[in-house]
Amino acid sequence: MKTVVSARDIEELIRNGGDADSVPADAILTPSARDLLRDLETEGRGKPQPAAAAKAASAPGTTKPQPPAKPLTSKNPKPELEAFFNSPYCRDLKQQLVEIGRRLWERAYVDGNGGNLAIRVGDDLALCTPTLVSKGFMKPEDMCLVDFEGNQLLGSKKRTSEILMHLQMMKQQPKDLASVHCHPPYATAFAVAGVLPPTCMIPEYEVFCAVALAPYRTPGTPEMGKLVGDLVDKHNTILMANHGVVTWSHNNLEEAYWRTEIVEAYCRTLMVAAQLGKPMNTFSSGQLQDLLKIKQNLGFVDPRYGLRECELCDNDEWRPGVTCAVPGAPDGPAPAGPDPEAEAVVQAVTDQILAKMQK
Ligand SMILES: [Zn+2]
Repeated sequence: MKTVVSARDIEELIRNGGDADSVPADAILTPSARDLLRDLETEGRGKPQPAAAAKAASAPGTTKPQPPAKPLTSKNPKPELEAFFNSPYCRDLKQQLVEIGRRLWERAYVDGNGGNLAIRVGDDLALCTPTLVSKGFMKPEDMCLVDFEGNQLLGSKKRTSEILMHLQMMKQQPKDLASVHCHPPYATAFAVAGVLPPTCMIPEYEVFCAVALAPYRTPGTPEMGKLVGDLVDKHNTILMANHGVVTWSHNNLEEAYWRTEIVEAYCRTLMVAAQLGKPMNTFSSGQLQDLLKIKQNLGFVDPRYGLRECELCDNDEWRPGVTCAVPGAPDGPAPAGPDPEAEAVVQAVTDQILAKMQK
């Protein structure tokens, strides 16, 4: 009798190290199995390739590998940690780290071996990227398992030196499931200038990001981790003075990455808008309130919840332009000469405030 083979069967076969070539030639293939085999053929005739396996894992009609029924801790016996580390579930997370690393590199959000990623995988466990590897060229087997003190438990490559920051964030913010740190040029420019981007100009930024600025400390030190960790209660996007950006998500790694894209696009747009010689238009406090409602429904943090409409405007901290006057980090390096673009942004927004006041 002919066997019926589904995409899930093939996915299972590959996950167990099998070869798609071993599917009987006379088997009846479901439509999704046929699609999957075609994809596998394109990527290298049925050999168990990471990209194909990842695609298999997300093929429609297939189930994603599930996390352990009971969350692991660093106290679990080593064989249990190893079994988890080599499980299909963990393999899927490693593949996500590879994929997001590739996107960071392709968008020039990281340079050299810069940037790092972490995913919470247990009560006091995180999976993270290795040090001294370009984020654009990582492999799943490069990933490291660490406890919440930063001790490396598994993985052949050495863990990122900046893991302490990710761990501080996860400790201080129980909802932090995954975090992304990188050096995207426009957002980092604001961080170097010590300028918190003015708000109320683009909906995605208001809904997805809640931005704060952390003072400079040497990357990888516990002090740096603490300063960032102190901000994640009500902020999900932290500009790190003279360094870069770190974002977190309570849903998944990709959403943390989206925040990076959104804050970077926003900062870039502000820089361009500042050159048009026109005052920038902003939302009314009512319009902002509508966006904050959407944000709250999505479960995203923001320090502005509960403020009345008039407070949203009266509160200096939220007034576009006023926030731009925030001086550089008090303990940061001595400010360099003024940055013309950052100055242009400050100038444009200041003009706007003055114009409003004269109305
Ligand atoms: Zn960095």
